[in-house]
Amino acid sequence: MTTSKRKQETQRPSAIAPAVFQQAVEQADIAISITDRDANILYVNPAFTRATGYTAAEVVGANQSLMSNKTTPANVYQSLWELISFGRPWSGRLVNRRKDGGKYLADLLITPVVDAAGKIVNYLGIHRDVTELHRLECEVGNQKALIESVVDAAPVILALLDGAGRVVLDNHEYKKLMGDLRMAEPASLILDAVRVDLGHGLEAPKDGGHAFSEREIRIEAPGAPRWFSCSGMWVRRQDGKADAFFDRDNDLFLLLVAKETTKTRAEQEKARVAALQAMMAEQNHIDGLRETLSAAVFQIEGPINVMSSVLATIARRGNGDPAGQALASALAAGKAALESLRGVIPEQRPESLTAVNLNEVMRDVLDLTTQRLLAAGITVQWRPQAVLPSVNGHPNRLRAMFKALLDNAIEAMNTKGWRERELRVATRSIPGSVEVVVEDSGPGIPADLRLKVFEPFFSTRNAGGHHLGTGLSSAQQVAAEHDGVIEIDPAGNGGCRVRVVLPANGRG
Ligand code: FAD
Repeated sequence: MTTSKRKQETQRPSAIAPAVFQQAVEQADIAISITDRDANILYVNPAFTRATGYTAAEVVGANQSLMSNKTTPANVYQSLWELISFGRPWSGRLVNRRKDGGKYLADLLITPVVDAAGKIVNYLGIHRDVTELHRLECEVGNQKALIESVVDAAPVILALLDGAGRVVLDNHEYKKLMGDLRMAEPASLILDAVRVDLGHGLEAPKDGGHAFSEREIRIEAPGAPRWFSCSGMWVRRQDGKADAFFDRDNDLFLLLVAKETTKTRAEQEKARVAALQAMMAEQNHIDGLRETLSAAVFQIEGPINVMSSVLATIARRGNGDPAGQALASALAAGKAALESLRGVIPEQRPESLTAVNLNEVMRDVLDLTTQRLLAAGITVQWRPQAVLPSVNGHPNRLRAMFKALLDNAIEAMNTKGWRERELRVATRSIPGSVEVVVEDSGPGIPADLRLKVFEPFFSTRNAGGHHLGTGLSSAQQVAAEHDGVIEIDPAGNGGCRVRVVLPANGRG
């Protein structure tokens, strides 16, 4: 406040009698002292006596320095005097000593009092004992430091998220994960994966408690997938803002605790992929048999149909033709052979529908084809979206489909003299669906054959090209069984780009 403004205020007529002011100061439950310009005490109120133990008679005429415990640093007093002697108020904490020798922490406000000319004539001191408050503040501070060091040293990932999903507290392990995943907030990624695993969002309850417990999630990290066992707890925190003082509504925070289980899972994965390899080899064998037998049936059906129509013509001409009878028995034998051939075609093994993570499927397929890729000198660029929504499907059928696509790509590039040998595999979620793109740098499929390749038993080899098309018709069948689509475009580098789009779980 400026001196002239203060002057105006002192000249303002008061509706309260001076005696009332005096009684108010006398009866105020806070220690008040009035001094001259040198801090010699002129007046103290009864609350001052209660706080310090000194009566008015004992301190009037003495200097305020009588209160000092002589342990407050000199620079504190210097800045105090610098301010007040320039007519500015000062507030701060000083270590004081009572009459009985007891020390206490005084929270002091000194206000210069000016006369009508704006000259400092007195100082008004108001102070209260804040020893207990300070002890509590220290305790809170110590506890905070202790909690922070425990949280930091914990061998698990910890992150506290506010209602808007911002991380307000984290620990060393969390920061390490940030570096590993090369991203700002891995917590949101982990929670996305938890939501996919749960199959629904996270509902904040009214009374706190567990949001989810020990959910195993997988994240496609750069290099290799990582697994985490995650739990989430709702934590209520009181809003410290002034306008929330009487409002009992608290902010709800989510404490995310994640323990990395990659080491154990990687071992299990190795065993699983080995079992998968054996199963896929057997499945391949059966599929090959089915395909060969189906092709044989397809080939025999042609002559049988011709025989049927010839026989029908002979029959129209009249009975008794011995050639017709011979043809009829040959046809019957042919049909019987066809039926027995159909009977030995192995049936598709039934597989139940389940939530499938296409990142896992693609990773399995890449693991299963690693040897072939290495042998063919093909470099692989695997670009998965870190967390994908699941699709509802038959995992083995999907694996077989993607393996066929990869096998085709390898075969297309693995021709003598072909230099460009790069396979790109990417996954991403698009509205309502999950997209998988398999792109090779082989010779590609000519535009006029791009639809034909989906016909059963078609191969671009038959058409004089280099790219093997076999398997695409069954791949299309698998995609269709999953309400998905499969398309072939030319890749940017002239190779073949196969795009598979399958509906995501939980789409609206
Ligand atoms: P001081 O001799 O006071 O010197 C400390 C510093 O202050 C030096 O740099 C000196 O140059 C400067 N200084 C001192 N007097 C003046 C002055 N008149 N003008 C300009 N600079 C000056 N102190 C407490 O410890 N506890 C209290 O509860 C307390 N209450 C106070 C209440 C009021 C209203 C006022 C005006 C002061 C109060 N003080 C209090 C401050 C007190 O007056 C002393 O400055 C302080 O106690 C240090 O005393 P000292 O004898 O160690 O040093």
